[in-house]
Amino acid sequence: MKINPDDLIRPHIKKLKPYTTARDEFAGAAEIYLDANENPFGSPVEQKLNRYPDPHQKDLKDALSKIKGISAKHIFLGNGSDEPIDLLIRIFCTPGRDQVIICPPTYGMYEVAAAQNDVGVVRVNLIPETFQPDVPKILEAANETTKLLFICSPNNPTGNTVSKTDIEFLLENFRGVVVVDEAYINYASAASVMSLLTQYPNLIVLQTLSKAWGLASLRIGMAFAAYAVMDAFDRIKPPYNISGESQRIALDALKNLALVNDQIKTTVDQRRRMTNDLEAINGIQKVFPSQANFILVRTNDADALFDYLLKRGIIVRNRTKMVNCENCLRITIGTPEENDVVLKTIREFYN
Ligand SMILES: *Cc1c(COP(=O)(O)O)cnc(C)c1O
Repeated sequence: MKINPDDLIRPHIKKLKPYTTARDEFAGAAEIYLDANENPFGSPVEQKLNRYPDPHQKDLKDALSKIKGISAKHIFLGNGSDEPIDLLIRIFCTPGRDQVIICPPTYGMYEVAAAQNDVGVVRVNLIPETFQPDVPKILEAANETTKLLFICSPNNPTGNTVSKTDIEFLLENFRGVVVVDEAYINYASAASVMSLLTQYPNLIVLQTLSKAWGLASLRIGMAFAAYAVMDAFDRIKPPYNISGESQRIALDALKNLALVNDQIKTTVDQRRRMTNDLEAINGIQKVFPSQANFILVRTNDADALFDYLLKRGIIVRNRTKMVNCENCLRITIGTPEENDVVLKTIREFYN
């Protein structure tokens, strides 16, 4: 039996009346706008920021729709991925009662957002070393109050993708909503699981403009999902959740797809180079195969290497305390020149 997300949305959310903005009541073009209590003279900076932005981000969604090959009706935009993660928990989980499943080691925000909402977290660790989800254990851990399963692919901090077969199996057998976070999908050789959306209404795919698109500061996250989920997002979201400047700049950025693809290619080349060169260093135990713009590196002595790099102005992420990541550092792939310095410094440390 297929899971219909509409059956899992908290009933009060389906009945929420969204705030109606001035732009919802009049969306056409006019000479004089006196309906939103804006300052008619302009802003005390060069940019014109005195008008409220489009609450539905129509132009940006239309542009993304062409790039992603999905109707704008199935795109939600949030203030970073953080916002859809939080909203999904609020849409599906009743505080003090429901839970979500996460698969550590993974992105920290799922757990933070659940805790902020007084929603329980069930941890089903990824299988050590391969970092693949433990599918039978996930299904065992779920019950009727387990509403969401977060799968991160490519996973942060391990870098591996989760197979489409596993994701399909979970979509078929987990009696809740499966959220697949594809923040790093642009760096992966595997395709997005967005193609499964038409078949599985209980699938929600998250992507972001923060990584490959180089727009982390704009805070634009995307969720692709069935219409019932879009409807819930629209009822619960803050009306102007994406600033006008962010919408304008993102729209401009989307015209430079070729440049972004060039950068992705360079990062993927550099990822291969960093993997090979680091593995050749005595003292580096293992570089986990990565499909993202970072690598997880198991070293003999993560804390000491971390401090050595830090003192030389190189900041990486120490992940040694995460489950099954003992002595691991997560290193983002930098520019070729930055990577030269990182390799030189790590060689120096071990010599
Ligand atoms: C970086 C990252 C994001 C992006 O978050 P934004 O809020 O969109 O900047 C989402 N998921 C994972 C797993 C990440 O590592």
